[in-house]
Amino acid sequence: MNLKTSVSIFTALLVIPGCSSPENRESQKPTITATTSIIADVVRNITGDKVNVISIMGAGVDPHLYKASQGDVQLLQEANMVIYNGLHLEGKMSEVLEKLSHGKTVVAVSDGIDKKFVRTINSDANVYDPHIWFDMKIWREGVQYISGEIQSKFPEIATEVDSCTRNYLHQIDSVQTACEQLIAELDTQKRILITSHDAFEYFGRRFGFTVRGLQGISTLSESGLKDVTDMVNYIITNKVKSVFVENSVPQKALRSVIDGCNAKGWDVKVGGELFSDALGANGTAEGTYLGMVEFNVRTIVKGLK
Ligand SMILES: [Zn+2]
Repeated sequence: MNLKTSVSIFTALLVIPGCSSPENRESQKPTITATTSIIADVVRNITGDKVNVISIMGAGVDPHLYKASQGDVQLLQEANMVIYNGLHLEGKMSEVLEKLSHGKTVVAVSDGIDKKFVRTINSDANVYDPHIWFDMKIWREGVQYISGEIQSKFPEIATEVDSCTRNYLHQIDSVQTACEQLIAELDTQKRILITSHDAFEYFGRRFGFTVRGLQGISTLSESGLKDVTDMVNYIITNKVKSVFVENSVPQKALRSVIDGCNAKGWDVKVGGELFSDALGANGTAEGTYLGMVEFNVRTIVKGLK
């Protein structure tokens, strides 16, 4: 399948009667508040127009560093249900979420995913890679799990939620297939993905990429001079054509890698911007989870070909 065909398949998938949600808030509906824009989009898709969905973090916001404001805490307290990623993605919101869980239904998407599929960073310390949305085959398990939790909490809308969820899972599977076909165009030795931080290890595991992030699994740790030098040498040794910036991470550190490569005579380019921990702007294809995944794959394949 060529690029054009898979894009049109994706566009066709976006039009699902009955499972699209208006943005306006209606008081008679239950409210579900999600931490990240990615989770909020998923919840909108699986609940149709039956729920008010609020996202605490907007487009381009880094969840590793995000602290809940007073206004956020109020939104979380007012919600009928709170859904978050877990695995310490929302590291600086842990306390707020923990407190909320005593009087409210608070659900982590990651609780629906079998731990044997979750990447371990440090098994002794129970540190897991939180970027589970980049492996659609395990993310769909989390989607099914939160759908079940929503249906138990709000039985009056269970039928609609079940139907929208089935529809959405079908869309996830179709985008997975379209991505596989796009990536098949890329020679296996060219599958080296270098980004600002290590958000793409699940993606790499699923699609056979070697993944290197300058900053590690969380953006909390800043990259040092040695990280930059090591990355420069790695890029030159492996003749990597392009590196990728991310929408939720400052570009400065990766820019110094590019400068370092150029200084040593290797012309590495920015292959494009990837959407890693947050969606793109509302109203764009990258403003939805599935659109973001498909956009990333197209950008990666184009940049590395
Ligand atoms: Zn991240």
